Amino acid sequence: MEELWRELQMARSIAVLTGAGVTSGTGAARALGGRTLAAQFGPADLATGQQFAQNPAAVWQLFQSRRALLAARGPDKAHLALAELERRKTLTLLTLNTDDLHERAGSRKVVKLRGDLWWMRCTKCGRPWRDGRAVLAPLPPVCACGGIARPGVTWFDEPVPETEFKQAEAAVRSAGLLLVAGVTARLVVVAQLAAVARRAGCRLVELQDPAATPSGAADCTIAGDLGDMLEAAVSRVRPFEDTLEPCL
Ligand SMILES: [Zn+2]
Repeated sequence: MEELWRELQMARSIAVLTGAGVTSGTGAARALGGRTLAAQFGPADLATGQQFAQNPAAVWQLFQSRRALLAARGPDKAHLALAELERRKTLTLLTLNTDDLHERAGSRKVVKLRGDLWWMRCTKCGRPWRDGRAVLAPLPPVCACGGIARPGVTWFDEPVPETEFKQAEAAVRSAGLLLVAGVTARLVVVAQLAAVARRAGCRLVELQDPAATPSGAADCTIAGDLGDMLEAAVSRVRPFEDTLEPCL
């Protein structure tokens, strides 16, 4: 924790990249969310465009389960700690998660690299809209134009949209520290942003579950419970202005 606190305290500006590991009980939630269809389709996070084209109703059922689970739970310690860190430091949150737990915890500057599962988009006319209902019926939902709606997320086999990737790149370039939390740097988009950090001279610190294998891409890997580590470290971080010596 001491090490994490020092990294956070020293950095003037921080970019945080989060993945599934910031949500506690993610494994259980995924299993529950995809229980009936997991064997055939895998969890909603791993849904592909091909699966959706073949069976939109089944893929929507996976997303429906995720929506119902999310509607029934709140943010975790890690989400709350990162929202608090944004109040104390210049921070941009980049996330591969499609839920809204960072926003519900109070984070304001959030770049959603893989979209938002509370949004949908028409596959015919392209219209996007938000639908916050936990239960959708009938499935698949349709647009006013009659086209089938798809979840407003990036499929697992699609690249991150250019606009969001550029925002993430800019945030990393201007940050002194890129903190990767709850996601492996072996994922393509994480590796790409790690490369941006290296070129920009931005320090890369990886927070991981002790069971995960370090990617080898980080300047420093800190293993432990993400929620506990972030909560303890962030509570001691002072805003940058407070750390300046008075020049009297
Ligand atoms: Zn439409």
